[in-house]
Amino acid sequence: MGTDTLHSGAKLPKGYRKWPRTAAGCEHGAMTLLQPPLALLLDVDGPLASPVTRRVSPDIIANLIELVRRGIPVVFNTGRSDAFIAEQLMAPMLEAGLPDGAVVHAICEKGAVWFSFTQDGPGTIHVDRELAMPAAYGDDVRTLVASSYAGHMFFDETKRAMVSVEQHVEVDSASYLAEQAKFDADALALLAAHDLGAVRLEHRAPGSAGTVDYRVDPSIISTDIESVRLGKDLGASRAVELLAAQGIVPQAWRTVGDSRTDYAMADWLHHQDHVVKHVDVRPAEGVPAKPYPVKTAADLQLGDDVVNDFAGAAFLQFWLDGLAK
Ligand SMILES: [Mg+2]
Repeated sequence: MGTDTLHSGAKLPKGYRKWPRTAAGCEHGAMTLLQPPLALLLDVDGPLASPVTRRVSPDIIANLIELVRRGIPVVFNTGRSDAFIAEQLMAPMLEAGLPDGAVVHAICEKGAVWFSFTQDGPGTIHVDRELAMPAAYGDDVRTLVASSYAGHMFFDETKRAMVSVEQHVEVDSASYLAEQAKFDADALALLAAHDLGAVRLEHRAPGSAGTVDYRVDPSIISTDIESVRLGKDLGASRAVELLAAQGIVPQAWRTVGDSRTDYAMADWLHHQDHVVKHVDVRPAEGVPAKPYPVKTAADLQLGDDVVNDFAGAAFLQFWLDGLAK
């Protein structure tokens, strides 16, 4: 069936290598620590990819690889598609040289899609079809964008479960945000036309069955239309499962994000009794009270102007420095 079976009974896709069960077995490749001191669960847009260029800097790629080489699990948890992660993170990491035996997990589309990669490339792309938007709705949004919004935004053809529309890089933020408000209203009207109950921020519009199964989720550069069951908390649960299938149980987690919704990673981990600290790389809205520590660039003695991927890079370096001690 194209799967390898680990002795835990967990199945891994074809192409995955079995690796030594202890760090002692790895002399030349990545250490596989079964109880690593840290595991990283990283939102991509903001902490790693610049919200301006949408690209990941070579310094961040190098530090991610070094963390992997030290045996620190690195898991991406993003609303982006697997194609975006393959292009912006996997390809440069493979080009820079992923260590022998290392596995990096990517949870995409807020938990609906996931895959893992090694130095040999990506494994199977998994899609939870139950969490996908109806195709007819996606077709209508594609047509809407082409007819009314193509100057400011584009339909993301790489999504497998979500319907996402994103700002053109060359459009300035203020004019995008003004158009986005109109697009979101149209997207909600289309949901109603398909009798799909939906919510956008505080606004709830149940379908005829009285249920709200879908969400319109605006960010500063895009709008996602998705199942309400998707979220960074679902991504966190998949991350724990993917590591457990390798026999890896981290002693502590660090979650990193730039949005309020990213706190759901740490909320879920904390609720499941994992030790977690959350890093907010864009705390412009303030830091909410949480039952776990929340860190910002100020905790690294950096100024308020160090945000997004600059703050993300600083924290990756901070954790690497901590491992060196
Ligand atoms: Mg983000």
